[in-house]
Amino acid sequence: MLIDAHCHLTDGAFDPDRAAVLARARAAGVGHVIVIGTTLEDSLETAAFARATAGCSATAGVHPHEAKTWSAEVAARLRALLHDPEIVAVGETGLDYHYDHSPRDDQRRAFEAQLALAAEARKPVVVHAREADADVAGLVQEWGRQVPAIVLHSFTGSRALFDVGMDVGAYFSFSGMISFKNWRPSVRPSDCPTDRLLVETDAPYLAPVPHRGRRNEPGYVREVAASLAQQLAQTPEAVAQRTTDNAVRLFGTRLAHALSAPPSLVS
Ligand SMILES: [Zn+2]
Repeated sequence: MLIDAHCHLTDGAFDPDRAAVLARARAAGVGHVIVIGTTLEDSLETAAFARATAGCSATAGVHPHEAKTWSAEVAARLRALLHDPEIVAVGETGLDYHYDHSPRDDQRRAFEAQLALAAEARKPVVVHAREADADVAGLVQEWGRQVPAIVLHSFTGSRALFDVGMDVGAYFSFSGMISFKNWRPSVRPSDCPTDRLLVETDAPYLAPVPHRGRRNEPGYVREVAASLAQQLAQTPEAVAQRTTDNAVRLFGTRLAHALSAPPSLVS
């Protein structure tokens, strides 16, 4: 069994065929999917979706792109949402200085506030970092031991973030990017402790080879795991077992509940 540790299943890209997407994931051996929240409204949706769909759990948070929407009211409503058993982590949060969709000060403020919420709620934090590794590393260093765990999602292998991640015992979640021919990381998956490895799709984005450039979906986490297995010189089965064990330890035993049959799925 495989667990997709990061996917945006509430994204409009899945509106036409969400149930079929999950049926294909199930057929591909995906037992559980973590549905990631990106705004307060989206997090309410991911929670409802996970509540209605066996084999799905959710996160609640505000993505760095949306950090300009952060407010005391958003914080209070997220804090309340974190009590829901379907919500297994805070996020995704972090910093993205590539797109700068929100002012950097807003991004840092929303990130730090979500780290504080996670420390209070005792939930792991799913962290997005793009061209902001120094600032992300600083906040992860500061908060990494005050939250139950940090997940460096779609980890791209930068050295600054790796060193801090190692220091705070972070999890390194690899996406389809590791299957791209032009992927030249300074830190390889084999540098990461095996009990800290996760696999994810980040669907609908970052489809792995041979689906690159098309819509990604949770079933393709199989290709991500295959690529990881190749790089670790392990069998796909060993990598599936290892990353699933890691995800259950990280997010909780709720993840042992597997995807149900398609007819009960919300579409
Ligand atoms: Zn994401």
